[in-house]
Amino acid sequence: MTQPQQDLQDTIAVSDYRQDFPLLQQEVNGHPLVYLDSAASAQQPASVMDAVAQYERTDHANVHRGVHSLSHRATDAYEQARDKLRAFINAESRSEIVLTSGTTESINLVAQSYCRPRIGSGDRILITHLEHHSNIVPWQLVCEQTGAELLVAPMDSRGQLVLEKLYELMTDKVKILAIGHVSNALGTIHPLREIIARAHALGIPVLVDGAQGVPHMAIDVQDLDCDFYAFSGHKMFGPTGTGVLYARECLLETMPPYQGGGDMILEVSFEGTTYNDLPYKFEAGTPNIAGVIGMGAAVDYLQSVGLANIAEHEQQLLDYMTRRLTEIDGIRLIGTAANKASIQSFMLDDIHSHDLGTILDHQGVAIRTGHHCAMPVMDYFGIPGTARASLALYNNADDVDRLVDALEQAKKLFA
Ligand code: PMP
Repeated sequence: MTQPQQDLQDTIAVSDYRQDFPLLQQEVNGHPLVYLDSAASAQQPASVMDAVAQYERTDHANVHRGVHSLSHRATDAYEQARDKLRAFINAESRSEIVLTSGTTESINLVAQSYCRPRIGSGDRILITHLEHHSNIVPWQLVCEQTGAELLVAPMDSRGQLVLEKLYELMTDKVKILAIGHVSNALGTIHPLREIIARAHALGIPVLVDGAQGVPHMAIDVQDLDCDFYAFSGHKMFGPTGTGVLYARECLLETMPPYQGGGDMILEVSFEGTTYNDLPYKFEAGTPNIAGVIGMGAAVDYLQSVGLANIAEHEQQLLDYMTRRLTEIDGIRLIGTAANKASIQSFMLDDIHSHDLGTILDHQGVAIRTGHHCAMPVMDYFGIPGTARASLALYNNADDVDRLVDALEQAKKLFA
């Protein structure tokens, strides 16, 4: 097996955090597992699994409504997770942390509850060419419902936003800008602070799809000055079916509920209903209590490692992976932006990405293949899909070397 270069030996050859993740300690198809699909769903540290298991074993009851001890314990643990999430992204108030099932629900909530009531024919919604389907389709639905028009800011051949064009599209007709923090297909990091400042100068509110931002860098929503920030628990080492919508309190106050049901009300009669306070007005029904407690434990874990340490480790590893992949004859890197996080898409010779994924799996290397829920990005490059390797703090240079070796094997098979 190829050895990582000496200068990288001390920094990225070993990940100190790997042993925290039980799932990674296994063989797949007779080889030690190399997991390079964290952008789709990251693995969980034992501390997250333990927090969920402890809640299920000793504290489970429904939240908010019970007077008995278990319900108090469940409510405390659930609400503590909200406090952790508030601190994690530096929101001003816990009222601004709406717990959802994930990024997808968070964006749909904003589309239907914020955007739809205040937009009409002649108005515009602005997105970019790099968005995940979750940040495209909810806006198309609002356009269908209201007669508004969807505008798409273009990207260049490296997968970077063409900022001048984005700014040209920002006019007083645009009622919201919805933009990803990091592209899940290409890894591009957008210059959000600059973009948000430009949008605000024209009075345009900004929603950030942070699904791929939160796991890789420290997020400060007040510093970003965004109006909405959506993210998912399972991309940041937490359980699936959990997520957050951060929204400015003054905006949430003006928004009607997204769904009706238990917990989002103060009083119900057949004559009418008064809604609960923020953020509960947007949390109808029994939530994913165990999952949210697990997401709180994921925040503890991320903070114990330190987002700056994570970002540095992943950046060095991404540089190494890019360099190693470039050395392979017949490789075509898709997405070569100057500012990137943890993701590299590529194609190898004319091998179909699904074939490549299957061959790598036989060698214990898990990557993602296909359109990555970003079909317009694939259309831009004129391809049906890519192979995508995505990194997390538990990956190391050995994983990259195993990926490169497996790709060399695939080349031989198709030669
Ligand atoms: N946006 C981006 C950029 C993503 O990568 C994903 C998940 N692949 C989503 C949105 C949707 O997240 P979820 O399925 O957790 O709601």
